[in-house]
Amino acid sequence: PDGAHVPALVIGTGYGGSVAALRLARAGVDVHMIEMGMSWDTPGPDGKVFANTTRPDHRSFWLRTRTKQPLSDFLGFPLDKDVPRYTGILDAEEFGGITVYQGRGVGGGSLVNGGMAVTPRRENFGAVLPSVNADEMYGIYYPRANAALGVGVVDQGWWESAACYQYARVGRKHAERSGFPFVLVPGVYDWDYLEQEAAGTVPASALEGEVLFGNNHGKKSLPKTYLARAAATGRVVISPLHKVTSVAPAGGGGYTVVMEQLNTGGDVTAVKAVTADRVFFAAGSVGTSKLLTRLKATGVLPGLNGEIGKGWGDNGNVMCGRANHMWDATGRLQASMPTAGIDNWQAGGAFAEVAPLPTGIETYASFYLSITRNPHRAAFSWDAAAGKVVLDWRTAWKQPSIDAARTIFDRINAKEGTIYRTDLFGAYKIWGDHLTYHPLGGAVLNRATDNYGRLHGHPGLYVIDGSLIPGNTSVNPFVTITALAERNIEKIIATDL
Ligand code: FAD
Repeated sequence: PDGAHVPALVIGTGYGGSVAALRLARAGVDVHMIEMGMSWDTPGPDGKVFANTTRPDHRSFWLRTRTKQPLSDFLGFPLDKDVPRYTGILDAEEFGGITVYQGRGVGGGSLVNGGMAVTPRRENFGAVLPSVNADEMYGIYYPRANAALGVGVVDQGWWESAACYQYARVGRKHAERSGFPFVLVPGVYDWDYLEQEAAGTVPASALEGEVLFGNNHGKKSLPKTYLARAAATGRVVISPLHKVTSVAPAGGGGYTVVMEQLNTGGDVTAVKAVTADRVFFAAGSVGTSKLLTRLKATGVLPGLNGEIGKGWGDNGNVMCGRANHMWDATGRLQASMPTAGIDNWQAGGAFAEVAPLPTGIETYASFYLSITRNPHRAAFSWDAAAGKVVLDWRTAWKQPSIDAARTIFDRINAKEGTIYRTDLFGAYKIWGDHLTYHPLGGAVLNRATDNYGRLHGHPGLYVIDGSLIPGNTSVNPFVTITALAERNIEKIIATDL
C-alpha cells in the first residue's frame, strides 16, 4: 500500500529477483516484490492461461497493437497481425538496431523461454565472470541453482525414437557428418510429462508448440519453483501490474520507491510510494539498466559510478534456417522445448541450439539459434530531449556472430548440398540479426557494482539479475544468472543484514 515501509523491496520477479526473495525470506526478512507484468494465473476466453505460439492474441505481446514475431515471415508470407493492446507476456522492446525480447509477468523470462538450462563449460567461465571464484561457482552455486530450478536431461532412449524430436536428430546427423560435436542439453521441462504428452495421456503443451507466449503445462517456470517456495515462507508479497519508476534516498534512511499501478490496457491507474531499507534491482538487463541510467543521469542517485549502462551485449544471438532435402524431413510434430545443440565454441566461437519450428506442417527446414562470441558491447544513455533511455547498438555489430555461425552452417550446407532458407526473416534475408533473446549487462559485476552486486555510492542498493553479466555467457544464460544470484545473496545476507 501507498506509504508502507518494507525491509526489502525487489524490483522484478525473474531469476535474479526470485532467488533474492526466497533467500531473504528464509533468512527471516519480509520481502515485497514489484512486477510490471501480470500474474498469469487466470484462464482466458479459451479456458487456457497462455496463448498458443501459432495463434497469438491479446495475451501474447506487451502493449502492442500488432504482433512482432521473431520469425517475421514464412514461405514468403508475413506472419504479423493486429491484436488488442494488452499487458501481454512477451515484450518485443525496440532500440536502435535491435529488438530485445523479454518476458513480462510474475516469473519474468521463465514464462516465455525455451527452458534450456545450460551451465557454461568450466574453461569458458573465466571469460564470462573474471572476478568470480570459479571453484565456488562449480562446486556450490551452479549445483544449487540447477537443483532449485529442477534442471534435468531428456531420457535419451525415448528421445532417439520420439517423433517430436525428429528435427533434433536430423540436426545431429548433419552436425556429425560435418564433424561437429553435438550435445544433448539439459532443460527445465518436466520430461516425464512430455513423454505422457506424446502418449496422449495428458493435455499437450510442448507438443502443442507452446513456448513464446507461455506453457500451460510441463515447464517448470519460476512460479512453480523459486516463487512457490518463496510464497510458502509467508514472508513474500508480490504486486503484479506495478511498474517501478524511481528509487531515491529517503530522508530518514533507506529509499523511497515510486511505482505506477497499471491496468491491462497499460494505463496508469495510481501512483504509489513506499520506503524500503534495501532495494534489489532485478528488472532484467534492460529494465535494471534503464532505471539506473535514468536515475543517475537525472541526479536522483548521484553516487552511482560511470559504469552504469555500460557493457551491454546480446549474448551473440543470431538465427538462421537451412532448407533440407525432401528425404530429410524434420517432422510435422515438433516439441517446442529444444534439447540439443552443436558445440563449435572452441574452434569457431558458436554454440548453435537446434530449435523447433512448431508450425504443425512439414517444413523440410532446420532452424537454429546460435550463441556466438561477439566482442561488441553497447551502452545505455539518457536522452533528455526525448525523455527516454536509448541504446547505441548497431545491426552491423552482428557480423562477427554471422561469421561465427557460418563456421558451422556453411560447412554443413557444403557437405549436405543444401542452402540457407531466405524466407524466415523477410524476403531474401538469411540471418535473423535484428534481435536478441538474451540481453546481458548494463550494470556489470565488479564495475558498476562491487564483486557481489552492491551498487557503488548508495549502501542498501543491489543489482541481482542479468545486468551483472558482461554481455555473453557462451551458452543460454538463465542458469548462470540464477547461480550468480545465489552466490551474491548468500554473501549479502551473511554480511549486510
Ligand atoms: P527477467 O527474467 O527478464 O525478469 C525481469 C522482470 O522484471 C520481468 O518480469 C519484468 O517484467 C520485470 N520488470 C522490468 N522492469 C520493471 C519495472 N520497472 N518495474 C517492475 N518490474 C519490472 N535463457 C536460457 O537460459 N535458456 C533458454 O532456453 C532461453 N530461451 C529464451 C527464449 C525467449 C523467447 C526469451 C525472451 C528469453 C530466453 N532466455 C533463455 C533468456 C532468459 O529468459 C533470460 O536471460 C532471463 O529471464 C533473465 O533473467 P533476469 O532475472 O535477468 O530478468
